[in-house]
Amino acid sequence: MRDRFLAPTVGSLLLWGGMVGIALGAAALGTSSTETLVTQMLINAIVVIGLQVFIGNTGILSFGHPAFGAYAGYVVALLTMPMSRKLLQIPDAPLGLAEVETSTVAATVLAVGLTLIVGVIVGLALVRSGATSGAVAATMITLAFLFVTHEIALNWTDLTDGGGGLGFIPRLEGRLPIIVTLLASILAARWFAESKTGRLAHATREDDVAAASVGINRIRPQMVALLLSVGIIAIGAVLRVRALGSMTPSFFYFDYTLVTLAMLIVGGRLSVTGSMLGVVAITAGTEITRVISGDDVTVPGLEWLLRPNLSDLFLGGAMLGFMLLRPKGLLEDRELDHWLRRWLPRREEQVAPPPEVANPATGDSTLRTVDLGVVFNGFRALADVSIEVEQGEIVGLIGPNGAGKTTLINAVSGLVADHEGTVVLGGEDVTDLAPDELARAGIGRTFQNLRLFRGLSVAENVAVAHMASAAQGRQVPDIDALLAAAGLWELRDRKASALDYGNQRRLELARAAAAGPDFLLLDEPTSGMGETESAEMVDFVRATAASIGAGVLVIDHDLHFIVSICDRVYVLDHGELIAAGPPHVVRQDAAVKSAYLGED
Ligand code: ADP
Ligand code: MG
Repeated sequence: MRDRFLAPTVGSLLLWGGMVGIALGAAALGTSSTETLVTQMLINAIVVIGLQVFIGNTGILSFGHPAFGAYAGYVVALLTMPMSRKLLQIPDAPLGLAEVETSTVAATVLAVGLTLIVGVIVGLALVRSGATSGAVAATMITLAFLFVTHEIALNWTDLTDGGGGLGFIPRLEGRLPIIVTLLASILAARWFAESKTGRLAHATREDDVAAASVGINRIRPQMVALLLSVGIIAIGAVLRVRALGSMTPSFFYFDYTLVTLAMLIVGGRLSVTGSMLGVVAITAGTEITRVISGDDVTVPGLEWLLRPNLSDLFLGGAMLGFMLLRPKGLLEDRELDHWLRRWLPRREEQVAPPPEVANPATGDSTLRTVDLGVVFNGFRALADVSIEVEQGEIVGLIGPNGAGKTTLINAVSGLVADHEGTVVLGGEDVTDLAPDELARAGIGRTFQNLRLFRGLSVAENVAVAHMASAAQGRQVPDIDALLAAAGLWELRDRKASALDYGNQRRLELARAAAAGPDFLLLDEPTSGMGETESAEMVDFVRATAASIGAGVLVIDHDLHFIVSICDRVYVLDHGELIAAGPPHVVRQDAAVKSAYLGED
């Protein structure tokens, strides 16, 4: 635990030192306009960290985050403006606001509080829209939020005095509050990314279906990430408004979204260090383009380019270039502390202990389907299928392509929610549970087309599954032992996407087992494997199931695999159960032979 946060803490301090060093260095070298630029850069850094906390950890692109800044900005403006100014500009402000004047501290607290409430409301909309990584609906909601906020600010003139905005806001004295907030934001962002909640958010970011299959409910991690990011942006916005001494609807509108998003994307949205690099790079770039497009510089033949909008061109170009050539930004997901970790004291490497039984079978533990049926748009994929798997037993599910095998597993694990019949687990009707609830109830699964958390390390893939289940009080196996048994101990720090196919298959099974399920549903674990690899997989499936005391329902094409591993076999054809029994008996069944025409 302590280890996990030591490097990020030291790294955050260094990153902060670097940012402050660059800023103060530039301020010392430059003119008074550099002073303003430096102040703005440090404030933008805070806002970009706010963006990173949400976009980077959840994978949901938001255009609307700067709009949260508008709420905080108006609160602080309205509460700290001198009463005399307000009585002139907005005498009819609601709630008697024209006659209220608070300290900046109180105003900041209220600004952050109100913005968090707005955050909760927007968050609920995101959750309802089924926000998953890359979801279009969620991104559109954030965009709509940006527009709506802008319209409210423009049109609620009694409160905001419209487009001209509010002025005479007491100015920020010195940069200290900004510098301190920057440190707090960097630390919060890095700690969150390393926290349990942050890591669960990463799992849903990588693959929300797989995350649900190991019991992760995406809503809580996404909400926490949202509120943390909103809080950081609110404080950044308060500082921005106080540094400028005024507030208008356009301060936190599209232009600001573009600038801050460009910073995030160029540096690397998955990395706090990267996003800080992006802030410096974009600030420097826009400043340079601004200077060379000014009146003082003339380059014969280039007048057409050196126009005042060159810095916008630069922003657009930078975003376009990075999206095309390096979509994950300069640093991708690397952090300063990843390098640091090599030098900081580290827990002694443990030699992985042998697997042990962690979850022995208890009580009535049968997984049963009763008359399961699935219809896809009028096409019947499954009809009246009743099967049973006992804990500790390995049961095969075979049938020709398109027989409905995957559909059966999808129905049992909750992915196909709209089905007939019931699913009973340990005597309880679990038919109506969501995939993540079913996972927490004890049903684990793998996917026919691998679904790993590709951007996470091997160890992390297993750890998040383990964490999600352990938090629910499930008995979970030792993950080091699981990794060792899967032959992945040496590869534990690799990215899942960097593994070869066989290792990826074993990792997926290890991940499912890490949640300590009572039943494992395996969809073609040996598909695409050679003979030796398949044989190893047989051993691995057996050993894993035994070590966690789980019952297994395994789909496979390969009859050899099924015969060598299963106690019993069910045969599906055209969505119907056509045979059941011990493998050698089923193999001789006439109906099975005809379904498998030409099969060995
Ligand atoms: P198997 O795993 O046995 O090869 P599946 O369960 O994947 O078969 O598919 C059974 C049948 O249901 C196939 O004809 C397939 O085309 C159809 N099917 C599967 N999923 C869907 C879906 N989401 N929508 C429509 N048809 C589907
Ligand atoms: Mg299938």
